[in-house]
Amino acid sequence: MRKPIIAGNWKLHKTVNESRHLIQTLAENLKDVTDAEIVVAPVFTALESAVAAAKGSPIAIAAQNCYPASSGAFTGEVSPTLLKDIGCTGAIVGHSERRQLFGESNAFINAKVQALLAAGLRAIFCIGETLEERESGRMYDILTGQVKEGLAGLTPEDMDKVVVAYEPVWAIGTGKTASDEEAEEAHAFIRGLLQGIFNENVADKTPILYGGSVKPGNVDGLMAQEDIDGVLVGGASLVAEDFIRIARFQRSETVQQ
Ligand code: PEP
Repeated sequence: MRKPIIAGNWKLHKTVNESRHLIQTLAENLKDVTDAEIVVAPVFTALESAVAAAKGSPIAIAAQNCYPASSGAFTGEVSPTLLKDIGCTGAIVGHSERRQLFGESNAFINAKVQALLAAGLRAIFCIGETLEERESGRMYDILTGQVKEGLAGLTPEDMDKVVVAYEPVWAIGTGKTASDEEAEEAHAFIRGLLQGIFNENVADKTPILYGGSVKPGNVDGLMAQEDIDGVLVGGASLVAEDFIRIARFQRSETVQQ
């Protein structure tokens, strides 16, 4: 019942022309994919031309960040309202790089989620534990705090516009992926949190993506897990061939057990 979502986070990579070219290649090669949602998140400066390049294709364009106000004296920031204005469908919020490098708190991320929803956009809400948090046995407390505080004040209806991305920090850009079982265990835990905070219906329908060194070689096993509804891909989303293969992951009916 949950449609898979394959999302690419391009981080601080690619010029406007390079972005347009990659979107065109993806659009051409993924035009027949109707059983998964494809989302890519280029840098701010490339968003408008990315929206134009993706027009008529199954690719949606999201931003990598936003500020939680629609306008005002916030030098250097970009609001959900402005993202909507150029045709973006949502934004990534709470990425571990923003939490770690820019000191973003759960409360600030919550404000961004709320601002995106108020603008009618989708929030791709990232959470995940560090290696130290995992090894010291605090992983579930950390995930619980991130989910409870990051989604505070939302109604079950609001959750229609929220995608959760579980990204263990130790797996991002490191080449170390969580095993299929480790990822599934975390996803099932997060789904349980959604059930406790909201209700069973929200838990059933909210997509939970896995992120952390997803590659063509490991996507099929991850996507075969019951509670993994898609992937958020960093490095491999910059390479057309890799991202196309990831979007063409082996559908579960045909996965060999
Ligand atoms: C990410 O940045 O969200 C990510 C998962 O990166 P990578 O795929 O490169 O680990």
